[in-house]
Amino acid sequence: MKTQIARIVNQAERIYSIDSATADASYRVNLKLNTCTCPQHVHRLSKLPASDPQRQAGCKHVQACRLQEKFLLASLKAKKLSDAQLIVSIQHYQEQGKHEIAGACRCEQERRRQAARADAELKAIFA
Ligand SMILES: [Zn+2]
Repeated sequence: MKTQIARIVNQAERIYSIDSATADASYRVNLKLNTCTCPQHVHRLSKLPASDPQRQAGCKHVQACRLQEKFLLASLKAKKLSDAQLIVSIQHYQEQGKHEIAGACRCEQERRRQAARADAELKAIFA
């Protein structure tokens, strides 16, 4: 199954947006309430009692957002760090076994490298 990338809609309320893997649709996931706007949740899971294990496990969108939440929030923080802070953070969180945070810092570092490369290429073209 192809995993879709979740986007943060409201950090404080833990609301995410995620595309359907099969339909041309996008769903709204609320991790505070454990709800989703997909048909599976609306027509099936939401009818089950709150204590039902299937309802608690959530639809595949809720599960995907749960898995990605820590990384997405760490990515937001990584954007605010300086290049030097990123290097220190990668080593620190890697040593602590906090791989989502270290990974988010590495992704931010790579994003900056690519942006710098693209910038240098543009400057070379117009030099
Ligand atoms: Zn869903």
